[in-house]
Amino acid sequence: DIHTSLSAHKASDERLAEILDDPGFGVHFTDHMFTVEWTPDNGWHEARIEPYGPISLDPATAVLHYAQETFEGMKAYRHPDGSVWSFRPEANAARMARSSHRLALPVLPEEDFVQAADALVSTDARWVPTASEGSEKSLYLRPFMFASEAFLGVRPSQHVTFMVIASPAGAYFKGGVKPVRIWLTEEYTRAGRGGMGAAKTGGNYASSLVAQQEAYDHGCDQVVFLDAAEGKYVEELGGMNLYFVHADGHIVTPALGTILEGITRASIIEIAGKLGHQVEERQFSIDEWKSGVESGDIVEVFACGTAAVVTPVGELVWDGGSVTSPAGDVGATIRKSLVDIQFGRADDTFGWLH
Ligand code: PMP
Repeated sequence: DIHTSLSAHKASDERLAEILDDPGFGVHFTDHMFTVEWTPDNGWHEARIEPYGPISLDPATAVLHYAQETFEGMKAYRHPDGSVWSFRPEANAARMARSSHRLALPVLPEEDFVQAADALVSTDARWVPTASEGSEKSLYLRPFMFASEAFLGVRPSQHVTFMVIASPAGAYFKGGVKPVRIWLTEEYTRAGRGGMGAAKTGGNYASSLVAQQEAYDHGCDQVVFLDAAEGKYVEELGGMNLYFVHADGHIVTPALGTILEGITRASIIEIAGKLGHQVEERQFSIDEWKSGVESGDIVEVFACGTAAVVTPVGELVWDGGSVTSPAGDVGATIRKSLVDIQFGRADDTFGWLH
């Protein structure tokens, strides 16, 4: 039961057209936001859509001190006929439920998560950009849940807030898809056994920033993390999963456990299978990466995630060396299959659109 108070604060048509022409990423927000509260006694209650704006928090609010929070990232796409579709939102709902379980937050039922996202998207439908081939604009949705109790004791918060905000997103690659350079951090790790690496929670991103900065300092775009126990196995990038294409056509992606279960990663497993590739989820060592691209056994490396869909990895750089990987067309073919479904240019044979 969602209450609304929608009148004020709408961007003018002129301003909206200007923003949608060049939205960038994460800088402009739609006219409204969704909020629902949770307490142990009342469960989820007070669902509402209100004009987008600042929220006021007590300085003792638990999330500001102990980072008890989870979030999601997903997109809504406008199809050529004008209709608006989100991509696998129930998968994001399920992932948030797993993340929230790990962070000792209450679980928001899958239907409620999807309904909240739907309500915001339909309220702010005019913010979903029109896309064209070569211009993959969409509306990025950011559901998030945080410990909103004002209390400094270290224990699960007794007041929790779930919100959804939305932000129009421009094409990730302006001048066409470009290979990225990846920095291998050998100093920092992202997740250990029993930790929260599989959860989408702010702390994982806070801990990645210094390594990401190191990547920029070395002229790289993204950082790759290795496993914490042995420093031997490839995990994932700061914000993307990885795929390795072999000369015989089989594809390897690091196994789940301490990495984020990417929804793009999962979708690619299905698409690649349908395209006739054998896909293996297994431990994959950094030595296998280096020697594989050198010997030609690995013919292509690509990264994947909601933001950029599929990005070729052109080079791996570490302290004292680097290897380049060739630009193949497997990633590009998979990328096209996926974005054609998302933007309604191909049949949704997997039933992924909502
Ligand atoms: N790994 C990390 C650490 C991420 O932040 C993301 C982006 N959510 C991904 C992988 C890719 O996940 P998805 O395909 O669901 O966007």
